[in-house]
Amino acid sequence: MKNKEVLLERMERYALTTFGKRVDDLNNNEKYVVLAKALMEEIVPQWLKSQEKFAGKKQAYYLSAEFLMGRALTNNLINMQRKKEVEELLAELGVDYNQIEDAEEDAALGNGGLGRLAACFLDSAATLDYPLHGYGIRYQYGIFKQKFIDGFQVEEGDNWLEYGEPWSIRKGLESVIVSFADGDVKAVPYDTPVIGYGQKTINTLRLWQAEAVKEFDFQAFNEQEYDLAVKAKNDAENISKVLYPNDSTDEGKLLRLKQQYFFVSASLQDLVRKHKAKYNTLENFHKLHAIQLNDTHPAVAIPEMMRILTKVEGLEWSKAWEIVVNTFAYTNHTLLAEALEQWSIKLYKKLLPEIYTIIEKIDGQLKKELLAKGVEAKELDKYAIIHNGNIKMAWLSIYGTKSTNGVAQLHTNLLINQELNHWYKIYPERFNNKTNGITQRRWLLQSNPELSNFITELLGSDAWITNLTELKKLEKFADDQSVLQRFMEIKKMKKEQLAAYIKRVEGIDIDTNSIFDIQIKRLHEYKRQLLKAFYILDLYYRLKENPDLDIIPRTFIFGAKAAPGYFRAKGIIKFINEIAKLVNNDKEISGKIKVVFVQNYRVSYAEKLFPAADVSEQISTAGKEASGTGNMKFMLNGAPTIGTYDGANVEIVEEAGEENNFIFGLRVEDIAALKDYNPKEEYKKIKGLQRVVDSLVDGTFDDGKTGMFKELHDALLIGASWHKPDHYYVIKDFESYREAQQRVNDAYKDRLGWARKCWINLANSGKFSSDRTIDQYAKEIWEIEKA
Ligand SMILES: *Cc1c(COP(=O)(O)O)cnc(C)c1O
Repeated sequence: MKNKEVLLERMERYALTTFGKRVDDLNNNEKYVVLAKALMEEIVPQWLKSQEKFAGKKQAYYLSAEFLMGRALTNNLINMQRKKEVEELLAELGVDYNQIEDAEEDAALGNGGLGRLAACFLDSAATLDYPLHGYGIRYQYGIFKQKFIDGFQVEEGDNWLEYGEPWSIRKGLESVIVSFADGDVKAVPYDTPVIGYGQKTINTLRLWQAEAVKEFDFQAFNEQEYDLAVKAKNDAENISKVLYPNDSTDEGKLLRLKQQYFFVSASLQDLVRKHKAKYNTLENFHKLHAIQLNDTHPAVAIPEMMRILTKVEGLEWSKAWEIVVNTFAYTNHTLLAEALEQWSIKLYKKLLPEIYTIIEKIDGQLKKELLAKGVEAKELDKYAIIHNGNIKMAWLSIYGTKSTNGVAQLHTNLLINQELNHWYKIYPERFNNKTNGITQRRWLLQSNPELSNFITELLGSDAWITNLTELKKLEKFADDQSVLQRFMEIKKMKKEQLAAYIKRVEGIDIDTNSIFDIQIKRLHEYKRQLLKAFYILDLYYRLKENPDLDIIPRTFIFGAKAAPGYFRAKGIIKFINEIAKLVNNDKEISGKIKVVFVQNYRVSYAEKLFPAADVSEQISTAGKEASGTGNMKFMLNGAPTIGTYDGANVEIVEEAGEENNFIFGLRVEDIAALKDYNPKEEYKKIKGLQRVVDSLVDGTFDDGKTGMFKELHDALLIGASWHKPDHYYVIKDFESYREAQQRVNDAYKDRLGWARKCWINLANSGKFSSDRTIDQYAKEIWEIEKA
């Protein structure tokens, strides 16, 4: 009771001093801010204590261009174990907690899986009492907000800071200067507490905001040069203005490079400054710091650290190199060759000439080392960091770190045996696997309290919240009808909640008795949303031809953003929306199938979608999805996977059994063995396929004269200058997918049998906790200890 009074008193105080009103008179947004500030008052003292307990110990740092944190309020309350109390307090004030929760904007400083992984890792590390802190950019605008107008994606700026952001604290006095060839910029840190479950450890996410060193030119203003007076301010602030600025021009590319160097240099300067203040030397830097590079976006950390050590601190090159290699580790996230990051020498020379010289020196050293290891001179080009006018960030990252890891076993195997095989031969000891994971605090406890409570009730303990392998003990209920019945009731409840939300925000009615078949992930050709679209259209035509076709009603749900410059991805969105229009408006089809593409898919929407899913769509081209983490969130909420043998799907099936999932399609080795594949011939042979593929160009659908549909059709049947036709094997896998969907339909008819599959997936999802992943990073790479 006392806690509540204190909290209320604090809220009243912030209401008065921040908004000049009483709590009762605040709108929901203001109430959210005031509540968060009142909570911060109790978080901060514990945060400081947590920092003290790690002083003098080795700590780890996660450098990432993306942190897809989502909302903080509920997550913080859950980890503080205060949610119920706050809900009650608000109820006493006549306020509905859900409305306050909904007033918070997502912190959407990321694109998708890679950024969400960073967020899950921070939660897990704090919960396990490991000192792991995040470093990134405080983008003023996160990933764009998506709307559909006439079925086309339309992007709008995500001004998430507009109404204030109560969780972060500006640490102006800890600002650092980052230097570019065209001038200096000030990096100002904003710190956000990362609260572990149980609140024993509170780590820090430090995000840098770019500001001008001198923000206002008084002289210029006085001379009535008003634009000039604020030019430096605007130029500097542009650096942290938006996540992934358009890089179709050199100017855009330059801005992206500025972003990378900006946050990397600021972070390293920050660590070096603190370390020196304490130890007065950098020779032991690697003994107290482990720095993980989340993909190659922060790879410039390697030459930047060399610059600081040799040019600023005066260490010898070889000594500095030893420190660098032993400090950094690199996570590879992709097998798409075209996604391996490169920078033109020209841009580097222009913006970071000193760093470029250091990269040249690193490249020279690498070549000497390779020759000494017996690599033939003619082979050197394969490893060259600087090659053909470009700097290869992945090569720099492998050479400049002690560890390179893939993010699922299949992915790591492919790195070792194919993509990075030449590097593996030189440094086998550096390569390792760290299968991704997700935090069960957000993806089960928070987003599915109904199922969480049931699990705790059955197990007689909530130990699973911090030890997910406890779920294995649920397996003994797999044949208990009353348990499966309760599970189905909870699933139904989550479907009803989602349906109500979809009705509210999309204006669409969906039938909660239908199968909720969900594909939610970034829009990309390799993820093959198009395969599902073709399946739906084919099913539609089959239903038209045969109204008695024996199917369980299904709602096909999509959620995805397409990169603003990715024309084909946008074409796929439009195509699916056209199919939705056709299917949903056909009275003969009503009650059988429905298609919904939800707008603005993001973390807070995801929290409503995963728990309501009956089927998890993980249908990427084999060998292309490094891991996937959405697949794990579905599994944790008891949804079987229909998927290819790709990424972490392989491990999901290994844990939960192939018989409880629906695996189809070409495997990596099948694709490698394919010869003379001709999709134009192929698609005529498969019943119904030509009709749906050609619907792109035969007038069935209208793409508003954008040429999008023709371009998609060409990509499948003709190819393009940079790829062969049907590069992602949509046509080749169609029949196998359709057959797997038939198996889903048939399996669902046996309601208890279906629930059993769901249950076994849930019970075997323990491996996919990011707690397990973080424990492996901590022990096998970072060598840090719990407090
Ligand atoms: C988990 C998650 C992702 C990653 O999904 P994949 O299916 O693994 O690509 C992307 N976006 C959001 C909002 C997520 O929560």
